[in-house]
Amino acid sequence: MYTGTLFIISAPSGAGKSSLIRAYLAQTGHHPAKVSISHTTRKPRPGEKQGEHYYFVDNQEFESLIKQNAFVEYAHVFDHYYGTSKKEIERSLQQGINVFLDIDWQGAQQVRQQMPESKSIFILPPSLKELENRLIKRGQDDAQVISKRMHKAQSEISHYNEYDYIIVNDDFDESLTALNAIMITASLEQSKQTTSHQQLLADLLTPKYE
Ligand code: GDP
Ligand code: ADP
Ligand code: 5GP
Repeated sequence: MYTGTLFIISAPSGAGKSSLIRAYLAQTGHHPAKVSISHTTRKPRPGEKQGEHYYFVDNQEFESLIKQNAFVEYAHVFDHYYGTSKKEIERSLQQGINVFLDIDWQGAQQVRQQMPESKSIFILPPSLKELENRLIKRGQDDAQVISKRMHKAQSEISHYNEYDYIIVNDDFDESLTALNAIMITASLEQSKQTTSHQQLLADLLTPKYE
């Protein structure tokens, strides 16, 4: 009967949010969780697969999905549309699966309004220099795209105070420990425990000693 929790994760590009989510999901023993696959109009990077990293669509298809009200949020980021499908997240949450949304601050604001029970996490880089190094090291974007992402980084970072939790991703293992702590804390909230332990609570509260 456990209902999944929606976790919004934002960060300037290159801060490490995809790596952290991937590492979290690769661990055994965590509560079932998945990343919501967004729709985007940007072109796939080398190695990115349709339906695995994103649903890659063209502008016309994206705009038609907007009209059909298919998105819980969408935004224009780096000259492209990015959006989260409603169906995709609602189905998972109902199945008791925690869902990560790797989305920008504009999308985060929209989701928070519609789903106030969601939790949000902002990932900060240890410095701007290191952020740039990581974008270069990742080797996925050309110099012009990297420069654009660095220009956008500070405006993204300026929204950090809209988030419930902040992780400074310096040492990766420490960041993963922090993410685990957040996930465990969220699962222990009274409302979650009430649905997870309905039978136990009913037993514990059945009058026996009168
Ligand atoms: P990354 O920043 O290197 O991980 O590059 P991506 O292309 O994966 O993401 C680009 C931007 O789009 C980031 O700011 C993401 O947070 C944002 N983004 C990804 N998916 C979504 C989404 O479904 N909705 C919104 N609003 N933003 C998204
Ligand atoms: P994002 O999804 O936020 O754009 P990525 O997860 O793709 O960022 O990380 C960007 C690059 O930085 C990747 O090459 C990744 O391996 C590296 N990286 C992530 N976290 C750390 C860390 N704590 N220390 C060093 N490198 C990192
Ligand atoms: P990239 O092009 O590097 O994959 O993503 C660029 C930015 O778009 C990232 O900051 C990422 O979090 C954001 N992004 C990806 N998918 C979505 C989405 O569905 N909605 C919104 N609002 N942003 C997204």
